[in-house]
Amino acid sequence: MSREDLLNSTLALQALSLNQGTSGNASKRHGDGFLITPSGMPINEMSANSLVEMNLHGEAIDAGKPSSEWRFHRDIYQARPEVGAVIHTHSMFATTLATLRLEIPAFHYMIAVVGGDSIRCSDYALFGTQKLSDSAIEALKDRRACLLANHGMIAVGKSLQQALDVALEVETLCEQYWRALQIGKPSILSAEEMRAVFDQFKGYGNWNQ
Ligand code: 13P
Ligand code: ZN
Repeated sequence: MSREDLLNSTLALQALSLNQGTSGNASKRHGDGFLITPSGMPINEMSANSLVEMNLHGEAIDAGKPSSEWRFHRDIYQARPEVGAVIHTHSMFATTLATLRLEIPAFHYMIAVVGGDSIRCSDYALFGTQKLSDSAIEALKDRRACLLANHGMIAVGKSLQQALDVALEVETLCEQYWRALQIGKPSILSAEEMRAVFDQFKGYGNWNQ
């Protein structure tokens, strides 16, 4: 069941144009560890059996090769007990802004879905390294998403569905911010205005669950 859920979410990432080919990866907390997509395998070729179970020591329990980014998936599960799923994308607009190493400010109230008043961008580090994981954990502090410099984005949620919802919303926000930057300088909501948004969010949708 968990394997089917993770496979379906990975296929959804492709259907939503958030990932394609071998770009990006996804995982779901499972037992004492997690299930993660395989490394270097095009999404179209994945099956439930290609997914790799790992423990929190970073040891693969299945025969396959886990995503090269298993370190940040593992470290997020260790650092954030509330997180049940992690999604990493190279989606168009998040990645475009990540190449500029921009922190996305509160130019739109929906920034609140990440749990704070900005989407941070991590420092640059080589893919698949502990340094990238350390930078990602820092950029994700008190947030459900961050950009990865010159790379892409990470979104987390209590479930795969929530992580997917966050990833899609962040990608939309990045496109909107990119579009606004083409024609001017967006006005940024104040800390007080964002506090009111967080209050309003308490009764809105599933973002607070
Ligand atoms: P994997 O195929 O090893 O998951 O790598 C894809 C990726 O996005 C690396 O950052
Ligand atoms: Zn990547």
